[in-house]
Amino acid sequence: MDTEKKQSKWTDEELAASVDTYLKILALEKAGQVVDKAHEQEILQKGALINRSTKSVDFRLQNISFLFVELGLEPNSYPLLANIGSGVAARVGKILAARGVIDLDDYLPTADEETLNRRTQKLREKNLLGEPEGIEKPKKMMVTSTSYARSPRIKAWILDNAKGICEGCNRPGPFELADGSRFLEVHHVKHLANRGSDRRSNAVALCPNCHKRCHHANDKDEFKEHLYENVKRLKRE
Ligand SMILES: [Zn+2]
Ligand SMILES: [Zn+2]
Repeated sequence: MDTEKKQSKWTDEELAASVDTYLKILALEKAGQVVDKAHEQEILQKGALINRSTKSVDFRLQNISFLFVELGLEPNSYPLLANIGSGVAARVGKILAARGVIDLDDYLPTADEETLNRRTQKLREKNLLGEPEGIEKPKKMMVTSTSYARSPRIKAWILDNAKGICEGCNRPGPFELADGSRFLEVHHVKHLANRGSDRRSNAVALCPNCHKRCHHANDKDEFKEHLYENVKRLKRE
């Protein structure tokens, strides 16, 4: 039964059966049982994996262990075998998602900053384990994004007026640029995306820390109030 089986592409059914056996062994081990893995593999080979050699079944289960670690999940006692093709990894990922083990969307690479941040946040909430390999050669993507045509005259005025001092924390920008000025960023207090204007009365020069605070901090509303109170030219829109 065991020698020279054909090396055809694994079907979804074969992968699903492998995943199910893997999950079964994982559950038993988590319950503190010692599992006869060879026996479980034999059952697989009598069923969905009848065309696969003992070795390739073993490798497939080790592949799944590797993928578990990559996903930040606790693997069962199968050793980690890394050479899982990206196509198979994606298909096994889909099967794990269908079994409710992972939310596949959270793991998908994306060129969209906001989506990346949302997925990052969701994964961080899961307290994932281990050290992922990541992507050796990230794909170059064409992205379509919406931006606003902004006035260079306003940006120049805001930066000149600040003279290198952040209007959020009153400290100098963190480093010097080639022209000797301190680095600051221009932020629209009422965001352009919320139909804020690109005028002196709605723009401030901020250090990168204060700028990120405006967008991400849990006290961003209070910080916005602080800007309105401290920067006299600002007008609420
Ligand atoms: Zn600042
Ligand atoms: Zn901003």
